[in-house]
This record gives sequence, structure tokens and C-alpha cells, in this order.
Amino acid sequence: MANNKEFVKFDKVDKSYDGKVLVVKDLNLDISEGEFITMLGPSGSGKTTCLMMLAGFETPTNGEIYLDSNPISNIPPHKRGIGMVFQNYALFPHMTVYENLAFPLRVRKVSKEDTDKKVDKALSMVSLSGFESRMPGQLSGGQQQRVAVARALVFDPAVVLMDEPLGALDKNLRESMQYEIKHIHESIGVTVVYVTHDQGEALTMSNRIAVFNDGKVQQLSSPDKLYEEPVNSFVAEFIGENNRFSGEVTNISKDKCKVKLDNGSEIFANPIAVKSNGEKTIVSLRPERALINTKEKLENNFNGKIEEVIYHGDHTRVRLNLLGNKDFILKVPNSSANMDIKLGNEIGVSWNSFDARALDPK
Ligand code: ADP
Ligand code: MG
Repeated sequence: MANNKEFVKFDKVDKSYDGKVLVVKDLNLDISEGEFITMLGPSGSGKTTCLMMLAGFETPTNGEIYLDSNPISNIPPHKRGIGMVFQNYALFPHMTVYENLAFPLRVRKVSKEDTDKKVDKALSMVSLSGFESRMPGQLSGGQQQRVAVARALVFDPAVVLMDEPLGALDKNLRESMQYEIKHIHESIGVTVVYVTHDQGEALTMSNRIAVFNDGKVQQLSSPDKLYEEPVNSFVAEFIGENNRFSGEVTNISKDKCKVKLDNGSEIFANPIAVKSNGEKTIVSLRPERALINTKEKLENNFNGKIEEVIYHGDHTRVRLNLLGNKDFILKVPNSSANMDIKLGNEIGVSWNSFDARALDPK
């Protein structure tokens, strides 16, 4: 199968509900056939609106959406070949599991024989074979969501949309369902557009993640790139943890800059989103990129006072007062070498300029 890189294409899509405010702004997004892509962002950032436009329940104010190279503005939702799972897109409560799954097939005039086969296959995919005659009310929350996933897949759609499908489940179940959905995706290769506000969920499941804020895609990257190489301070703050220093660029070259912090100290950083001296910046450093008491000679070396120590089993989380930042976080692997991590101690902390990303000051 030719892997169409633009299987789903949002082309300059804007959306306004009231004719004034754009809640989706100039969305350009190409989704490959078979890809698992996640729209991740805070509440109100426009994720659901994007899914609704792709599904056909909302119309773009400007721009066009293409499915397999065809514009879809004039195609009604049920003819787009798109399956859907929503957090509160409940199963039909008065129908058995079998009838719930047969419903999208009946709409598409599939024969009884094929319906039975497809329902069997879809139920076995979500490990619910044998549950055909149960009513939704006789299933746990997790089982109901699995039936909803099976119902979205049962008619072999080209694309499946999932909008916070695990939001109502407790943590353990949510995590096991993340792997389950990821494995289903890997085994059948359907294109999935997934929406969540949970960064851990997005990192676990996706081939690529589009980070939304305020109707705009802030960054579109693989999970590891998003975490390791955030392009702006919103993404650095939204994905994972980061230590932040605000200051002004004083000495910039191609791959290094000096930043004078608000408290007067100077650090070396990686000039990601700054171009010239005098610019304001926020320098972002992942906690695990800062080393303590290391013998290596790194460009940034400072002493900090330990303000808080929290034991986390596999690592210890240490909060320091460092360079005027009272919330500087370190994550230290637990080993006997790190016994001097005690409240009130001064320790040496170092990091490479490369890992300290000078971003926009927002
Ligand atoms: P998300 O899914 O990221 O939480 P939404 O797409 O639901 O964001 O919402 C984006 C913005 O559009 C929000 O400001 C929301 O209030 C507004 N909005 C969403 N749906 C409607 C609607 N049907 N009518 C008017 N405004 C809406
Ligand atoms: Mg939403």
C-alpha cells in the first residue's frame, strides 16, 4: 500500500463560532496513512473543534480539509468513512453489545453474515469475545469504552477519531487502555487522530503530537523531539517539567549564548528562539539534565542550597535554591553515591549549555 503522506490534510483551516473570535487559527496539518497523531493541549485550545470539522459536524470558516486527496467540505459525516470514540459518546443503552456494534454496519447495509464476522473480529480485538448479549449497563466503565472502540472500528473506517476516550477511567485502567489502543492501532494500521489534554497519554501513544494552544499548533513533532527539543516556552512548560530562568541575552553566537539573569548571574545557553543581544528570554532546562557533584567540567557550574528532598523510590526529587530560582528541581537516581543529599546542604549543580534552551520570554 502506498503510504499517502497527506491522507488527511488540514489546509489553512480557520474556525470561528461567532464570526469574531478564531478558535482554530490557520491550521496546516498533514497526517500520513496509518499514522497515530495526537492533538494535545489545554482545555479550550481548539482540539475538539478540529475533530468535529474532520468528522463533519462543524464546517471550517476558512480553508479546506482533504481526505485521501479529496476535499470533504460537502460530504456529510456518515459518508466520510470515519469512526469515532468520545469520552461521553455513550453506547446505545437499550441495545446489546452485538446490536451496538451491528448498528454502523446496518447503516451501511452490510449483510447479516458479514455483520456477524465483523462484530466477532472487532470484539476479539478489544478482548471482549463472548460479551455479545450483554447490555452496556452490565459492563464496567473500561469494558464500555472498549465496546465503543470496537464500534468505531467495526466498519473498517479509513480514519478513527478519538476525543479524550479514556478521560472517565481511573489511572490504572487508563494506562492499560492506552497500551491496548496503541496495540490495536499497530495491528490494523488504521489512521488515528487522537485528542487528549494528558501529556503522558500523548507521549505513550503517538507517532506524532501536535501541541495546541489558543487555537494554534505550537509544535508538531515525535514524542521524543517534543520533550527533548521544545521550540518555545509554552511547549517546554506544558510537556514534562522544566527549570526556568528569565534574563537577557548578552553574547550570542550561532550555537551558544550568554544570558544575564534577573539576579545578575550569567549562564550559558543554547539559542533556540533568540537571535540577538538584548533580547529577553526564558532559559528552560529539564531536571534530569542537571548533574550534581559531577567531576565532568560543564559550562554551567553553580552551588545551590537544598530546600526539600522527596523520596520517590527509584529516584529522589530535590528542590534547590539556585541562582535566585527557589524551585529548581533535580531528579537524582537513588544510589549510595548520593548520600549527601540532605536538607540544608549546599551542593554543586552543573549542566551543558546545549541542554539549556533559550526560548521566548512568555
Ligand atoms: P478543546 O477541545 O481543546 O478543549 P474546543 O475545541 O472544545 O477546545 O473549544 C475551543 C474554543 O471554542 C473554546 O473557547 C470553546 O469555548 C469554543 N467552542 C467550542 N465549541 C463551541 C460551540 N459549539 N459554540 C461556540 N463556541 C464553542
Ligand atoms: Mg475537547
